[in-house]
Amino acid sequence: MHDTPGEARPLHPHTLLVHGAKAYAGNPVRASTPPIYLSATFANSSLHESGEYHYSRGGNPTRDALEAKLAALEGCAGVRSFACTSGVGALHLLLAELEPGDRVLCSQDVYGGTFRLFGDAWQRRGVGIDYCDASDLTQLAKGFTPRTRLVHIEPVGNPMMSVCDVAQIAELAHERGALLSVDNTSLCSLHCKPLALGADIAIQSATKYLCGHGDVTAGVFSVRDAQRAKRIGFHHNSEGMALAPFDCYMLHRSMESLAPRLAWQERTARELAARLHATPGVLRVRHPSLLRGTAREVHVRQSTGDGCVISFETGSAAASARVIDALTLFAIRVSFGSVTSSASVPFGMSHRGMPKEVAHLRPPDDLIRLSIGVEDVEDLWADLSRALALVR
Ligand code: PLP
Repeated sequence: MHDTPGEARPLHPHTLLVHGAKAYAGNPVRASTPPIYLSATFANSSLHESGEYHYSRGGNPTRDALEAKLAALEGCAGVRSFACTSGVGALHLLLAELEPGDRVLCSQDVYGGTFRLFGDAWQRRGVGIDYCDASDLTQLAKGFTPRTRLVHIEPVGNPMMSVCDVAQIAELAHERGALLSVDNTSLCSLHCKPLALGADIAIQSATKYLCGHGDVTAGVFSVRDAQRAKRIGFHHNSEGMALAPFDCYMLHRSMESLAPRLAWQERTARELAARLHATPGVLRVRHPSLLRGTAREVHVRQSTGDGCVISFETGSAAASARVIDALTLFAIRVSFGSVTSSASVPFGMSHRGMPKEVAHLRPPDDLIRLSIGVEDVEDLWADLSRALALVR
């Protein structure tokens, strides 16, 4: 077998995940897993002659291997991906594209920590934020101001699962002189390719699907434009955003099983979403497989999968608490995308810390968000249906 696959025919993403970036300089013994270069520094050969690497914050071979695989997965040429210390760290790098006085037009269906970052942290730096329902293009168009410099969306919102049309929003943002950044965590770069759809920046929390085992906190920031890549590279280094070598290795390794993990988890999620939908007393079940009409058309056009997050309501916060507390296979915890299933109430967990001004945008207090793992579907259903029966 050759280390570097042939270049004549583009490789399928499933193949890229296992072969994509195995070979890189400095692997003289042809190790089949990339070496972990824990070294913080790399020595010069003489005072005036340095090698390819100097200092790990600015460049590290293990991180390079990961970033090459991440960039290949974005599905278009010329992509540069930066591995960051967390998803929030990657979101924070957006600030490199903004000046004091600029405004961000943000979807109102985004991760709770995004509200916190854009609100409390960025407003102090002179950046203004406007929120709108970005799944409705008319509403989005009304949200622009003369100072809007960046539009920020999630293709499937967390946790309300509103669908935003990346290609159309990119066009609108560009017409108005703004950039589009897409937080792609809910679909991940295996399923959705925001840069190929016209976005300027694609971000994901790799803590979720890419890692899949709940043991790495990481983020990814990807761009196509060479000038932007240079600027972001400068900030990634100078603001200390780089992911540490061991975490790079862990992520590189976990991504090898991303495609089969996700396919398995999604099959179970689709089945459980359909069963929940048919269960009396379970309200407003949300999963992309249950979408109908235009939202489903947009979703299918821009994503090859549905993810494994399901949300639903019970009618009261007290009932939802009883359901969650009764579950035994679903751990009560934030985050999603792991091989073990989990359940949360975003209102009091991932979206609790939202600033006061946007408190009205918090998800409903009875909304339960499930993340479906690789357990057996009937075991998960037995657990869920038993817990739900307690409140019927
Ligand atoms: N974006 C989305 C959609 C998320 O759900 C999360 C975390 O839950 C983040 C970003 C932040 O990622 P991290 O926790 O890796 O900082």
